[in-house]
Amino acid sequence: MIRLIRPACPHPAALASNNYKHPLNKEALKIASHDKCMYCECKISHIDFAHVEHIKPKAEGKYPELAFTWSNLGYACPKCNNAKSDNYHVDTPYINPYDEDPENSLVAYGTFLFSKNGCERGDLTISDLKLNRPDLLEKRQLRIQEFKSSIDACFRTSSRVLREAALAELQKETETDKELSLFVKSFMALNAA
Ligand SMILES: [Zn+2]
Repeated sequence: MIRLIRPACPHPAALASNNYKHPLNKEALKIASHDKCMYCECKISHIDFAHVEHIKPKAEGKYPELAFTWSNLGYACPKCNNAKSDNYHVDTPYINPYDEDPENSLVAYGTFLFSKNGCERGDLTISDLKLNRPDLLEKRQLRIQEFKSSIDACFRTSSRVLREAALAELQKETETDKELSLFVKSFMALNAA
């Protein structure tokens, strides 16, 4: 999970008429999270597969009044969205990448996501949203292995100038628009510093 910036709602009239899935608004949420799930940072292959996520659940007895509130919407993959379901803890809310920097509460180490500094909300976010589920561990491992091969290739280059240029190029893989960027960034910091 990485910090996201919420854009202005492009089509507030749709929300006012009780439509939270309007394509213009969904597209804006997609762009804001770099075409990735706001929680697990996996690319969502087709916008139809993406869910408009209610950060505070819209279920009866929860926060139905926030069902059409822009600041309560996000872009999530079906797996995170289903795992989160209608859960929400008032005293220990899930980490919300639109409202805070997740890197204050969560840290990527290897293929695992951990809470930071004993952060209870981080722990709860990881366990309830299943952010170390097997398919994510596998994706992270593949991504890191591929990235490691590129780092190795850089270090095997005899020319210092070429190596530095290649490493600078690789740095782009840690940018926020790349899949699982938190994990790649963490790996890069530990292995190519
Ligand atoms: Zn996800």
